[in-house]
Order: sequence, then structure tokens, then C-alpha cells
Amino acid sequence: MTMNCKPIATIDDRINDIRGRTAEIVNNDILPNEGRLWAERRAGESWTDRTEVLELRAEIKDKVKAAGLWAPHLPAEYGGMGLDFLAHAYMNEVLAYAIGAASLFGVVAPNSGNQSVLVKYGTEDQKQKWLLPLIDGTMESGFSMTEPENAGSDPRSITTSAVIDGDHFVINGHKWFTSNGIDADFFIVMCRVVEAGQEGTRVGPMVQIIVPTATTGVNIVRGIGVWGRAESDHCEVRYEGVRVPIENALGRVGEGHQAAQDRLGAGRIFHCMNSVGQMWRAFDLMVERATTREVHGGLLQDKQFVQGFIADSYIDIQAARLMTIHAAEKIDQGLQGARTDISAIKIFVPNAYSRVVDRAIQVWGAAGVSNDLPLAGMYMGARTLRIADGPDEVHKILIAKNVLGQYAQGEGWDFGN
Ligand SMILES: Cc1cc2nc3c(=O)[nH]c(=O)nc-3n(C[C@H](O)[C@H](O)[C@H](O)COP(=O)(O)OP(=O)(O)OC[C@H]3O[C@@H](n4cnc5c(N)ncnc54)[C@H](O)[C@@H]3O)c2cc1C
Repeated sequence: MTMNCKPIATIDDRINDIRGRTAEIVNNDILPNEGRLWAERRAGESWTDRTEVLELRAEIKDKVKAAGLWAPHLPAEYGGMGLDFLAHAYMNEVLAYAIGAASLFGVVAPNSGNQSVLVKYGTEDQKQKWLLPLIDGTMESGFSMTEPENAGSDPRSITTSAVIDGDHFVINGHKWFTSNGIDADFFIVMCRVVEAGQEGTRVGPMVQIIVPTATTGVNIVRGIGVWGRAESDHCEVRYEGVRVPIENALGRVGEGHQAAQDRLGAGRIFHCMNSVGQMWRAFDLMVERATTREVHGGLLQDKQFVQGFIADSYIDIQAARLMTIHAAEKIDQGLQGARTDISAIKIFVPNAYSRVVDRAIQVWGAAGVSNDLPLAGMYMGARTLRIADGPDEVHKILIAKNVLGQYAQGEGWDFGN
């Protein structure tokens, strides 16, 4: 089944045009090739097969570029689309319909997040050295903030230290879940600048430092196994006396926490629109199966249990989508006023996504958990999203704080704005 993506009457022609052309590539070039594009390398696979896959990916990327749809997150001067926030959000739900399609449109996490941070905080020199190779694909990167000994949901608890020694930082610390750690050429590492002797404490201003992974003392301990797999590219990393020049600081010392918030805050809208696109796909798959599978003398679509799944999923997707678009519209008018809405979608959308995929799996039966369909991968992704980028509980605390703060000032909540 292809994505049914017609123009939306309430948005401008430019955004409809972007969505329409994105859907064309998703429907005509990516969905029919999904099985081949993302097949794991199999034992016995010939180089000819693998080369064909790589050529196919390159072909689709060329089409995306020719259509002017490459790198929606980047400004035009860096070869991106230079999209405003809302247009980017509306585009994401379309390209996320096909699993893995984002990478064919030039958006690959964590590289894309690091690119945006380098665009905003990087010096001209850093852009030449790190940003441009990241954009042209000759370098890979990771973002290294979370630490096993400290709560990732409270980023101010980090203790990885950077001591200034002449014109160098000397970094010591222990991180984990640094995604893309196996392939990365450099990490952006969140540290605290402290005096010698204060290492391992929670004092000192925060700073992000660019650390080439080939530097002595960057020790990748392991790719942590997740979801039953023996290994992943989410790495545990020990930084042991790592020396990097002071000019590798990304932004000013003390700006680190703000930079991390910039990276996560607005980015949550894009992640949620991705989830909406994937829920849309799961919904299509569920309905498609319900209309064709016969059980106990009738089609699944005629069973009330399944009709309930369809109705509940419809409600989940509509609510998730409209909440996210509302948050994106508010962000367009300034990040500060949208914080409550961003936390609300960060909780609601991954939970709704989990429910929708869960029902789709149930309707497909055994096939639902097989690798023949994208549902099992979606299920793990949706569950993970409830932890990454701030767990549900942290966002609930923030919503309650903002709401109670407003009532404390004698004002009720204005749901119309
Ligand atoms: C697949 C994956 C990829 C990731 N990639 C990266 C990456 O590239 N770079 C990186 O730096 N990090 C990455 N992370 C880490 C992620 O950002 C953290 O896992 C997340 O911030 C939560 O931190 P934590 O795991 O230390 O949980 P903790 O902070 O220990 O929290 C554990 C649980 O406690 C509960 N909790 C927290 N605070 C409260 C509260 N105030 N009240 C009540 N309950 C509370 C929540 O349920 C939470 O899930 C990744 C994680 C995953 C799973």
C-alpha cells in the first residue's frame, strides 16, 4: 500500500508541494524497494548484490537532491532546504512513513543533530574541519552526554571533567549510550570545566567539546547490546586523560547546557512528526490486513475487537498529530512559549505510537513480530522513545510546574493559545 498524501486545505501551497513531492519519492522509489534497501548483510551475499543495494540508495539520493528535498534540517548555504520549522515538521510525517527513508533525504541521527549544533555554535574553523565533512558524508559523529553513574534525566548531574592545561583540555569521564560510537570520527562530549583536583564533582560550568575518536585515551569499551541483540552502536566510552586543543570547545564555556537544550527542545517536534508518519504506516498495515485476513468464518474487519483497534488507533493518531502540529505552530512564534506543549507531545506521542503499533502487531498475529514487516522494529523504537530525550516523568513534572506557576500568578490556563 502507498501513502495517501493529498494537499491539506489549511496549509500554504509551498508546504503542500514539498509534502507531495516527498510522498512521490516515498511511494514510487522507496516503498517498493524497502526489503532490498535495508536488508542486513547476509552470510553468502555476493558483492554484486551489495553493490546493487548501494547503487540503489545512491540513485534515490540523487533523485531527492534533484527534487530539492535534500537535508531539510540544514540552511541553504550548507546544501540543505533551509526550511522553516512548520514546513520541516509537515515534511517529516511524510518521509517517516517509509522506514529508514530519512537517511535517503540526508537526515541521519546523531549526525543531523550534530550538524545543527555546529551550524549554530561552531567557529568558521570548526565548520571547515567538522561540519563540512559531516555534511558530505566523509565523516561520522556521535553525541556523548549520558553517564552510567549519573541520571541522564538530570543533565546537570554529569561529572565528566575538562581541566585546562596550557592550551589544551584534559578530559576524564565515563559515558554510555553514545550512539553511532563504532563508526564515529568525532564525538561532541558534554563536560564540566573544573580546576585540577575537582575532577568527578558536579561543580564547574558545562561545555561541549569536539573530541576526535582517534585521540589517545578515547576508549570505546563496548557497543551495548539492546533489545536482546548482542551488540549495538550505542557505545560505552571511557575518556581517560584525553587531550584536545582548547579551540575544540563548541560554543562558550557555560553554554553547554543551553546547547543541549537547543538540540533536544525543538528537535522533539521533528521526532514526534516522525512517529506520526510511522503510526500512519502501522495503521495502513493494520487496516490492510483486517480487510483481507479470514478468521473463524469471517474477515477480521467484521470483528468488533478489530473495529475497536481501528477506531482507537485512528483517535491516537489524530490526537498525536494535531497536538504536534499545534506545538510546531507555537514554536514558530518562539521556543519559550511552547515548552509545555513540547513536553506534552514528548509524553503523548511515543505512548500513542506504542499503542498503535501494538494493535497492528496483534492484528497481524505471528507475522506482526516477524522481520517481514517493519512493525517489530517500530515497537522497539516507540518504547525506546519514552526514555530517550527525557523520560515521561521528567516532562510531566515540567508540565505541572508550568501550569501551577501560571495559576499561582492568578491566571488560568488558556487552551486556545
Ligand atoms: C537507544 C538509545 C540511544 C541513546 N542515545 C544517546 C546518545 O546518542 N547520546 C547520549 O548522550 N545519550 C543517549 N541516550 C541516553 C538517554 O538520553 C538517557 O537514557 C535518558 O536521558 C535517560 O537517562 P537514564 O537512562 O540515565 O535514566 P535515569 O535518569 O536514571 O532515569 C531512570 C528512570 O527514572 C524515572 N525518573 C527520572 N526522573 C524522575 C523524577 N523526577 N520523578 C520520577 N521518576 C523519574 C524515569 O522513569 C526514568 O526512565 C540514548 C538512550 C537510548 C535508550
